[in-house]
Amino acid sequence: MDFECLRLGTAGSQHRIELSNHRIASNIVYCGDLSMVKCTLCKRRNAVYLRPYSGEKLCAKCFCISIENKVRGTISEYEMLQPNDKIMVAVSGGKDSVTLLHILAKIEKDYPRASLQAVTVDEGIRGYRDQAIKFAVKNCRKLGVEHVVTSFKDLFGVKLDELVRIIQEKTREKGGLTPCAYCGVLRRRALNIAAREASVDKLATAHNLDDEAQTILLNMVHGDALRIARVKPFLNERRVRLVQRVKPLCEVPEKEVAFYAYLRRIEFQGVPCPYASTALRNDVRVMLNRMEEKHAGLKFTLFKSAERIRPALEKMVEESKLVECKFCGETTVGDVCKLCSMLRELNILH
Ligand code: SF4
Ligand code: ZN
Ligand code: ZN
Repeated sequence: MDFECLRLGTAGSQHRIELSNHRIASNIVYCGDLSMVKCTLCKRRNAVYLRPYSGEKLCAKCFCISIENKVRGTISEYEMLQPNDKIMVAVSGGKDSVTLLHILAKIEKDYPRASLQAVTVDEGIRGYRDQAIKFAVKNCRKLGVEHVVTSFKDLFGVKLDELVRIIQEKTREKGGLTPCAYCGVLRRRALNIAAREASVDKLATAHNLDDEAQTILLNMVHGDALRIARVKPFLNERRVRLVQRVKPLCEVPEKEVAFYAYLRRIEFQGVPCPYASTALRNDVRVMLNRMEEKHAGLKFTLFKSAERIRPALEKMVEESKLVECKFCGETTVGDVCKLCSMLRELNILH
């Protein structure tokens, strides 16, 4: 994920500080020692963060605890995890996934019967993912979390870079899907295969509140509103061959994930993916960030609105009959799964 800027500084005189290579989308007001603004919660330490949607001014310690409690609250609200779950975290090496790993490792200490492991998918994006993997490995090692790396090349015989070249050749005239559209389908499959092979109960991904709000709007923009019924914090229906997915960061705004990572000195990859800017998601992100600046709490309201209408949408979506893809055998709704149809169209699979 990429950001625009992180603004830190003393109250009243904000200035920018680069946080690694990362840029964060909107104002984080740092109230330095000079300001003597006390934390709303502990009323002792100096505040370092002004939470626009609640008005709270938080010290570093209370801010971090508030994020960990928010994640605990989300997990229990959606009954995402059980005390004896084997959990696999999808760790790309970016700030969201590495932060999720740190928070879950902390929470997991309270549940001795639960276990945590991590997986990184190497899509094959030169100069980007190879760097990110180093951060994933480093953080897993630090936390003592078992870690596996799987790749598009090993699973599907093609790197994303190669796929992008083929897409550009094939779709030069009529235009076509973006690299992210292919990448998303292949990565979901790769993660599911890794989770299934590791026999875990849950696969945790690091989608934050911003990701979720963007996805809701993107579904509308794509004319696929009923899809909102299928994008949930917890995919709780049990399906053969599909590992249940959970999104414990889904109620934490992206900038708060980044600030948490900064305060906890978590190391992550800061360079954005070279293909990210080609996605419509990027435009939706910019638009939502602008709106959130003016109307604090808007992303959360959007997320909760989708939650409210989801039961009605679920009734409208016919219970789709799940069958096995006739080419790869994975669970799908039609004869051929999305991945096979995409790769066959490009003559990568026959
Ligand atoms: Fe894949 Fe797009 Fe994410 Fe890059 S930005 S890793 S291409 S989904
Ligand atoms: Zn405090
Ligand atoms: Zn298939």
